[in-house]
Order: sequence, then structure tokens, then C-alpha cells
Amino acid sequence: MNHLIRGARILGGAPADILVRDGEITAVGSGLDASGAEVVDAAGLVALPGLVDLHTHLREPGREDAETVESGTKAAAMGGYTAVHAMANTDPVADTAGVVEQVWRLGREAGYCDVQPVGAVTRGIAGEQLAELGAMADSAARVRVFSDDGHCVSDAVIMRRALEYVKAFDGVVAQHAQEPRLTEGAQMNEGEMSAALGLAGWPAVAEEAVIARDVLLAQHVGSRLHVCHVSTAGSVEIIRWAKSKGCPVTAEVTPHHLLLDDGRAGTYDPIYKVNPPLRTTDDVAALRHALADGTIDCVATDHAPHPVEAKETEWAVAAMGMIGLETALPVVQEAMVETGLLDWAGVADRMSSAPARIGRLSGQGRPLEAGSPANITLYDPSPRRAVDASAMTSKSRNTPFAGLELPGRVVATFLRGRPTVLEGKLQ
Ligand SMILES: [Zn+2]
Repeated sequence: MNHLIRGARILGGAPADILVRDGEITAVGSGLDASGAEVVDAAGLVALPGLVDLHTHLREPGREDAETVESGTKAAAMGGYTAVHAMANTDPVADTAGVVEQVWRLGREAGYCDVQPVGAVTRGIAGEQLAELGAMADSAARVRVFSDDGHCVSDAVIMRRALEYVKAFDGVVAQHAQEPRLTEGAQMNEGEMSAALGLAGWPAVAEEAVIARDVLLAQHVGSRLHVCHVSTAGSVEIIRWAKSKGCPVTAEVTPHHLLLDDGRAGTYDPIYKVNPPLRTTDDVAALRHALADGTIDCVATDHAPHPVEAKETEWAVAAMGMIGLETALPVVQEAMVETGLLDWAGVADRMSSAPARIGRLSGQGRPLEAGSPANITLYDPSPRRAVDASAMTSKSRNTPFAGLELPGRVVATFLRGRPTVLEGKLQ
């Protein structure tokens, strides 16, 4: 099926038509001929290149009660995503060619968005021996991003070896920066709020110390480092310094760290318990400015589905994590566009082009012009409404935004010309 997307504002600019044939954008302009194509009325809608997530937990294999590749990629499509990187901390861990190929194949079979598996850095995410990085890179899944996410690669020698190894195939090590000894038993950001609530504190330095070490290692080895879910103003300063020295480092921030602060913990509602923890209002402001000026390269959801019983319990024993695929674009609009920090071209860069570039996905994050694969998100930025957790497509409901009024709505998502979402409904 060919489509003519009529009157969309490409990256928020003047209205234009986009002609899609055989999975590719073949023309962009005004008054294009629609013969033989299904017309999609996109008047007033912003057209963005399909969103790309560098950090999604799909939970399959092992925790299919929380999410599956199919349910997670349906949620991704509903959020405007055409590609997600599936994190490796599954059961079994994605630390061999066999497991990453299984996840990759499940993604292809489901067909809602591209699933690019992330390989574990170490066997079993145990932090002791390198996983089969080369075999995963050479597999059908062509893994380029490696991460023990959920855990930090805390041993400096293992981290150095991983950086040296991935250089051979232009891979990147994505570090979950959390010094394990400094965060033993930690429940929330260490500060006035944790003291008032009597919850064990998670100091900013536990994140910053690892980032400082790793940017120096990446610089020494000359290999690519990516910092997952940056959460503190101090981390931003270290990354800014490292980039100024030419260090090959990139970084991501989550939507929830751009909008919520540690004051939320005052409710004792574990929906706000997340790793890394929500930080202070000053940290939130620093993260927003770092995303705007490019110190932080991209937005990544860290979509972390959990079943109800893991979250609806007391704070100390609740699982850490939040879902985020279906709310990411509205949250970024609220935190970055409504505040004047980013325009839609900036959003397209931070949520599509930059993550595709970091993950080395050549068919994603491309400009909306003739010759690009037709990965397109149509977004209506105008409606404001309360987030309804019960209406979500993810198998899990652990969203911190439930009941919060946010702008915007994804109207359509095209994956290589095929609509996965039309008129706000999964196809
Ligand atoms: Zn993590």
C-alpha cells in the first residue's frame, strides 16, 4: 500500500505532502499527486522521523508476565517509535549469539518496530568475564551496543577490555553508572528528602565517580562510551568536560528524569522508585539544559515494565523502574518544547537521529526526504489530557505519569511505509 501524507508540518515547519511508495519516501512537496495512494490527512500534525529508543526493557525471554517482545513493540509503535534497543538483562541474559538472535527474530515476527538487541558486556551480567561480544556482533542481530544495564561494569579492567574489544566492529559500551558499594541498600536520592523520609540515600557521587573513570578509560582506549540514564548535574559537568577534551562519549537522559524530582518520594508511592533515582529540581534543570545544548545526546526511555505485585507494595521492597514508551514524546514536549528549550527539529535529533547514530542503525533516524526509508511519526501536539494508565498498550501499568496532564498524541506511525498506528490505533 502506498500513502500520501497530506499537509504535515515536517519537523514543525510549513505544511507539505509526503509520498510513500514501497516502503520509501519518494517525494516531499506541495500538491503531490495522490493517484494509487491512500491519503492520510495530516493537517496540523507534526511529522518526525520514526523515534528510536536506545534503552528498552522488553523482558522476553524470562519475564513475559511483565512484557513480551510483541507487547513491548506494540507499546513502542503507539509511542511513535520505529526502532528500540532491547536491553540484555533478560533470563537467560542476552550474552550469546543465540539469545540475541532469538530476540531479534521475535521482533521481526511481531513486526511493530525494529528490535535491535543489546548484548551483555559480561557473562550473565556478573561483571567478571567478558561475554561473547564478537559472536554477538557477527550474528544475524549485528549487535553494536553492549550493556550490563541494571548493573554497573564496576571492575575497571573488565571495562577497559570491553572498550578495547568493541572497537574492532565500531561497537559502543553503554554503561549503567552506579558504584555498587556506594549504593548498597540505597532507596532514593541522597539529600534533604531522603533524610526527612528516613530512606537510605543514593548519592550523586556514586554515578559521577563511575562516569569520571569511564570517560578517562574511553579516552585512553580511543573507543566509544555511552552513558545510560544520566541523572545528576555533576554527571553533566563531567560529560561536558570529557566532550571538550575530544573523548568519544555520548549520553542519554530519560523522560522521567526531565520532568520529575525527588519530592515525589514524599508520597512513599513506589511508582516513583527508579534506578537511578529521581533527583533534585536543580538536577532536573541541569539535565534539560544539557539535552538542549547537546551535552546529553539523546532521550532514552529506560522503559522498565513490572507486574502489579512488584510495584504495589511498600517502598523498601518494591522493584525499581517505570514504563515510558507511550508517554515519552508528550513528556519531552512538556519538559523541552513547551519550555522553549527545544524545537521539533531538536526533538527529531534527540529522539531519532542521535540514538540511531549511536546505535549504528543505518535505516533509522534519517531525514524526511526522498530516498529515506519511510519511518515516520505523525504527532498532534495540541491536546492536553490526563494520562490514563489503564489505556496503555504495554503489559505493565507502572507509569509515574498516571493522572498527570500532558500535551500531545501520536496519531500515526509508519514502519518502512506500513502503518503500525493510524488515527491513534494500533494496526
Ligand atoms: Zn540502568
